[in-house]
Formats: sequence, C-alpha cells, structure tokens
Amino acid sequence: MAKEDQGLAIGIDLGTTYSCVAVWREHHSRVHIIHNDQGNNTTPSSVAFTDQERLIGDAAKNQAATNPQNTVFDAKRLIGRKYSDPVVQKDMMLWPFKVVAGANDKPMITLNYKGEEKQFCAEEISSMVLVKMREIAEAYLETKVKNAVVTVPAYFNDSQRKSTIDAGTIAGLNIMRIINEPTAAAIAYGLDRRMNCVGERNIFIFDLGGGTFDVSILTIKGKIFEVKATAGNTHLGGEDIDNRMLNYFVEKIKKEKKEDISGNPRALRRLRSACERPKRTLSLAVTASIEVDGLSNGIDFRSSITRARFEEINMELFNQCMETVDRCLADAKMHKCSIHDVVLVGGSSRIPKVQELLKDFFEGKDLCKSINPDEAVAYGAAVQGALLSEGIKNVPDMVLLDVTPLSLGKHVLGDIMSVMIPRNTTIPVKRTKEYLTVADDQSCVKIQVYEGERTRASDNNLLGSFMLSGFPPAPRGHRFDVCFAIDENGILSVSAKENTTGISNKIIITNDNERLSTEEINRMIQEADDYQAEDMKFLRKAKARNKIDDYAYKLKNALKNENFSSKLFSEDREKISSAITKATELIDGDQQEEEIDVFEDHLEELINVFKRFVGKSD
Ligand code: AMP
Repeated sequence: MAKEDQGLAIGIDLGTTYSCVAVWREHHSRVHIIHNDQGNNTTPSSVAFTDQERLIGDAAKNQAATNPQNTVFDAKRLIGRKYSDPVVQKDMMLWPFKVVAGANDKPMITLNYKGEEKQFCAEEISSMVLVKMREIAEAYLETKVKNAVVTVPAYFNDSQRKSTIDAGTIAGLNIMRIINEPTAAAIAYGLDRRMNCVGERNIFIFDLGGGTFDVSILTIKGKIFEVKATAGNTHLGGEDIDNRMLNYFVEKIKKEKKEDISGNPRALRRLRSACERPKRTLSLAVTASIEVDGLSNGIDFRSSITRARFEEINMELFNQCMETVDRCLADAKMHKCSIHDVVLVGGSSRIPKVQELLKDFFEGKDLCKSINPDEAVAYGAAVQGALLSEGIKNVPDMVLLDVTPLSLGKHVLGDIMSVMIPRNTTIPVKRTKEYLTVADDQSCVKIQVYEGERTRASDNNLLGSFMLSGFPPAPRGHRFDVCFAIDENGILSVSAKENTTGISNKIIITNDNERLSTEEINRMIQEADDYQAEDMKFLRKAKARNKIDDYAYKLKNALKNENFSSKLFSEDREKISSAITKATELIDGDQQEEEIDVFEDHLEELINVFKRFVGKSD
C-alpha cells in the first residue's frame, strides 16, 4: 500500500444493515464492485466492542448473538437525529445496545469496551464502518484512498446529510459529494441500459433495503439523468420484516413453550438474527425452517414458517410500500403508463410478494433485475466519484440532476410555512422571494428556516434561525428579500437583505445543536486513529501470543522426547522449562494487562531457546 494517492473517488453505499464499496476502473471503462476480506461484496454495517478488541463488519455481525449489548448496528437510524425523536425512542425498544441522551439531546450509544463504559455518537460508529469500507477499497486498489462519494436515502434531511459528511471526516475521508441512493441506483441502471435508450425514458426505481425504503422517478434523455420525484419511508425495510417475524415467533414460543422471551435481550437478538435466513429462503422456497439452540432457559427452538404466513404477517408493510409508489407518481404528476422501466434495488426487493404487487401495480410490466440489487447504489456512487475526480479518463459523459427531498421555507405571521423551494425541485437551486415587515418601525426580522410538508411552520422541522437587524424606520409592509440556495450535496444556505440600506445577514444551516463542532470532530478523528492503533496493537499481540503458544508446545514436546531430553545438561533443561513456564503464564494471564513488548520479547527468547536446543526456527 505504498503507492501514491491517485485522487480517484470511490463510491460507498453506507447502508443501514449492509454497506458496499465500488470504484470506476479506467482501463476497463466500467465499475468494479469490491469484495471484502471475506470475499463478500457487501459488508455488515456493524461494529462490536469486546473485552479485548473492536470488530467491524462480518467479524462484528458474526459474534453479535454472544455479545448483543456491545454490538452496534443501525447507527444510520440515529445519525442526525435527536434522542427525543419519536423514531429514535421507538427504535431503541428493539435494540439490545443502550442509547442515552447526551448533550443537546444527542443520542449516545453506551457500550462496554475493554471493561470500561464508553459512549459513541452515531457519526463515530458510521465512521468506523466507513474506515472499513475505505480499507476494503485500499486493499483492492493497493493505494491509499482519500476521496469518496457516499450515498444517503433521498429523504435524509439536512442534518442527517451533514452528519454523514462528519462521519466521513472522522474516517479520514474527503466526502466529495453526498448523493441520493435511488439516484445512484438510477445511474447504475441507466448506464447499463443506455445503449438501448432511444429518446426519453422514464424509470421508476424501487429500492427496498435493510432499513429504508426509497422510490424515485428518473428521466434519462441522452446524457441527462434527471430525478423527477422521490418519496420514501424512513422505517421500512428488511429489518422491519425481520422484526415482524421475530414478534411472530415470540408469540409462538409463548403459546407453545409457555415461555416469554420478550424481556430477554439476548434471546431476542439471537432469534432476530436467526429470522434473516428463513426470510431469505422464502424468496426461493415456499417454506423455511428456523433453529436456535439454547434460546432461553434451556429451550432449543425449532420451527418453520410458510411463505403464505410470512406474507400475511408482512402484508401491512408491503402495502405501505405500494402507497409510497402511488404517492411518488402523483408527486411527479405522472401516470403509471408513462413509466418505461421499473428497476428493483435493495436486498428486500427480492421478496416475491413485493415483486408481485409491484408488477400488478404497473399492470403486468416486467421488472428490471439486470443489476444486482445489493450493488446498484455503490455502482452509481462510483460513477459519480469518477465524474468528480480529476484526470480520470473514459468516464461516461453524463449530467446528473437531482432533486430536493423536502420542501424548504420560512416562518411567516400566523405560524405559516411559506415555501421557498418545494420538494422535488432540481438541485442545485437558488430562489429569492420578497417579504414584508409586519409592524410599523420594525427594526429587525427573525428568519426561521423550516423543512417539511406541513402548512403550520411549527409542525415542520426547524433547521435554524437568524436575525436581520438595522432596518430604517418605516411603516409596516417594508420590503426585504430572502434567498434560499441548495448546493450539489443538498445543503442549504439562507440569506436575507434589506435593499435600501444594503444590510444583510445569512446562515448556512448547520443544525449546530445536532451537528458536531470542529473541536468534537477533531477529537473524534484523534480517537479514530487511537482505536485503529489499538486494533493494530491487539492484532500484533494476538499474533505474538499464538506464536508463543506454538513454540511452547514444540518445546514441551521436545522435552517429552527421551532421546532429546537425556542429552541435555540439567541447566539447559531448566532454561527450556522456565521459558515454557513463562510462556504459559503469559498465555493464561490477563493479556490486557501485559504490554505488547513483554509478548514480543518473550517470543524472541523462545525462538532463541528453540533454535539453540531443538533446531532451526521455522
Ligand atoms: P441492502 O441494504 O440493499 O443490502 O438490503 C439488505 C436487506 O435485504 C436485509 O434486510 C436482507 O435481509 C434483505 N435481503 C437480502 N437478500 C434477500 C432475499 N433473498 N430475500 C429477502 N430479503 C433479502
């Protein structure tokens, strides 16, 4: 990994349950989905903490059942949200890990790491997943990676987008652009099919992933990819389906085994993760079985579920998906007949019932499944990354026009939301509107910026506010201008100006209360480095320990051999024995206590003893 940073931006799909990384390969003129160290193209977005080490990805997910309280998944559900947010409160009930309210109502994940209580915010956990994705890309590209394009659900608000950028910064990445997941999927699909694209094509993207549901309508005309509308549900995806299955089996256990496991987080966690496999099986078969040994109070749980029952318990969720599909078409003022292609994205779009409902909705239209639904988003992000990277050749010639997912506006008299930029407006965008003072001789106005679709401003999400003061005395109805501008990342800045005096003021909506300060980010970057150093140290120690174990074993065997042993002077036998004893003490002792040097020094000593008395080191 010694080569120079090429500056090429990788594409990362930072998913709620799984993440995926991809890169544009200049020589092949195509995207490459990068597999992780386990050979998988997607990596669980899980981070676990144990008494000894920190684990990320597959390693974290694999041990989740035995260490549920300290295995974090779903950090994306917390990012940019407040602790008191009803969505967070509801999610918390299902998580085996603890979340508490931190400063400014920020949710903090509380865990035990190396015997000590630690608190992490969602950005930190997400940054750990991003580091893992960066490392996966670095191993493949054999070069350091700095730049990335990261995707977020279309309905992520300003604060959630900025928090995702913060997570990238903590991970040591330069996030060149945040793009919407369905848009990324549309790029992937559009590029795949562009050869056959004649004239204008309207594409409907249906993305049902692990934690979120997004739909969007996109028009491709020549090299222009324009998102027309997006809609989504913050809480609809494979995990919710797993939870429905979990509840079903919890009830079944209650009825059949007379055991209530609902207050047993470990059992719930184990059962929930066990539900994922039969769920996947049911996409292929009409029945699936589930087995969890020693679930609770010695109960070995074995059961099965039919596809019909699975569909029944999840029908409400599937119907919600279809309502969103309908809403998106209405927003885009399009009839379903004008959709040329329906594209499936996200692992949960493999569910046959979902496909059936969608096909019926689009009056029997065949669904496009040509791109792996788990990889489409990272694929599109990688294309966008290449487009933004300097000096990269053979990148497809395309222009991406995205839309804003929520309406943005300001509070006016009577708690009314005066919309400046309606949702689904193409970004970047800049809109200026004239407003009037409401009182005679009013010297200042307060600009309160909201996002949301409700008519009453206070029912929407307050993004920030600022004062414009220094107005000249004037009767009510004095004019001033307010300007809203959204950049390519979907990030908003608002300014206001009084024209006769020229006084002005502005804010870039930073959601200061929820966002991390520069100091906090710097501290977290430092801590991220520390954690990485600790991980490396752990690995070095574990390797030394295993080698010590190995040499001690070989030396013990050598001593047992009469032929060898009888030829030794007694002081040499002593030396060997004492080296073995020390090795055993080190291996059996509290390894956290001992410094790495102690292990490595003793390993060296053992190797010397071995070389001197037994033979060559191997
Ligand atoms: P994604 O975030 O797009 O990778 O989607 C992950 C979600 O898709 C997880 O909840 C998986 O359990 C789910 N999933 C993956 N494959 C299947 C399948 N064959 N049938 C049903 N759900 C699946």
